[in-house]
Amino acid sequence: MEKVILIKYGELSTKKGNRNYFIHTLYKNIQNKLRDYDVKIHQDRARMYIEFLEKDLDSIISIINCIFGIHTYHIATIVDTDDKKIQSTLLDVVSKEKFSTFKIETKRSDKSFPIHSQEYNSVLGGLLLKNIPHISVDVHQPDLWIKVEIREKESFIYYKTFQGCGGYPVGTQSRAMLMLSGGIDSPVAGYLAMKRGIVLDAIYFEALPHTSMEARNKVIQLSKKLSRYSDSIHLHIVNFTPIQEAIYKNCREDYCITIMRRMMIRIAERIAKSHGALAIVNGESIGQVASQTITSMAVINQVTNMPIIRPVACFDKLEIMDIARRIDTYNISIIPFEDCCTVFVPRHPVINPKLETAIEEENTFDFEPMIEEASQSFTTIVVTDEDANEFFDLL
Ligand code: ATP
Ligand code: MG
Repeated sequence: MEKVILIKYGELSTKKGNRNYFIHTLYKNIQNKLRDYDVKIHQDRARMYIEFLEKDLDSIISIINCIFGIHTYHIATIVDTDDKKIQSTLLDVVSKEKFSTFKIETKRSDKSFPIHSQEYNSVLGGLLLKNIPHISVDVHQPDLWIKVEIREKESFIYYKTFQGCGGYPVGTQSRAMLMLSGGIDSPVAGYLAMKRGIVLDAIYFEALPHTSMEARNKVIQLSKKLSRYSDSIHLHIVNFTPIQEAIYKNCREDYCITIMRRMMIRIAERIAKSHGALAIVNGESIGQVASQTITSMAVINQVTNMPIIRPVACFDKLEIMDIARRIDTYNISIIPFEDCCTVFVPRHPVINPKLETAIEEENTFDFEPMIEEASQSFTTIVVTDEDANEFFDLL
């Protein structure tokens, strides 16, 4: 029996004007992610379906589960549109299931099929009742809700619904620059941004030798995990050491974090612009630490006109951790290698910084050439989802 993966668009179908563009982007994304498999992808306005080789089902499902824009999907059995064949296939498929109540819902998109939907429900229902013992019909809460879609040449039979990861297809929004540290929050922020269709580049500020190559490796592995949701991620690694050292040498200790963040945003903005990214994304969450009060955010934000998107701004830490576990970044994030913020944490960072003081303090050294240098000379690694599960072998 031949099976297909039947994909429903869900939220996409409400995007009237952009509908075709959304569907086309989803199609391209699926095609790209399944490029190594022997599949045929068909699309129409209401659904997409994928023909595949049985042996690849599990791997294909794990890929499908990371493609945004897929709301729900079904594994459907495909059968020639012929009454006898539909009946025997239905009986075959359903006999393998354990259930006591069922409902049949026929949809006839091919109106030339001679039996009307209602009538066909009774025909197929009668067939099951006659051949499978101890079952009955329940139209309200059936154990098995069997859908039969009659189409012109081939029809679908299915009864299990799987949840896809929802959202919009990556690429339906512009590019943005994710500030990716090795922590728990920023990978989750990146995931949520991609879920809205944003294409991500990532930027990591590194302060060797105060931070280690292991910390960098962590960020690479986090990018790998994130790239399962998109094509590939360009990870830009910026040498932040001279700026970080200058800040700690010249500025008031309690303002160091505020100023460090202002420098990071300035660099992120420049690299974003040179890479066609229109926004910055970060993992700040309101109230989580001193640098994440609204006052701090306002002072930090003041260095750029670029939108800064903070997908986890209003989430509790526990909610963020839940998502991190779900997307498999949590176990990497909690490995204890210091990033550049944790190395230089002041004893009492200012909670409500003043803009004038921040400006005064950062002007104690000539930061502009340093910012320019950092924005020009950085390393870019193209990270793909190949070997996304390999991290722990490296340690
Ligand atoms: P995370 O868990 O993402 O590290 P956090 O709670 O530790 O976040 P902070 O260290 O205050 O928060 O950083 C706030 C945000 O600033 C991070 O979520 C990230 O987006 C960005 N950021 C911090 N440090 C770096 C870094 N070294 N490189 C890139 N971005 C960074
Ligand atoms: Mg951090």
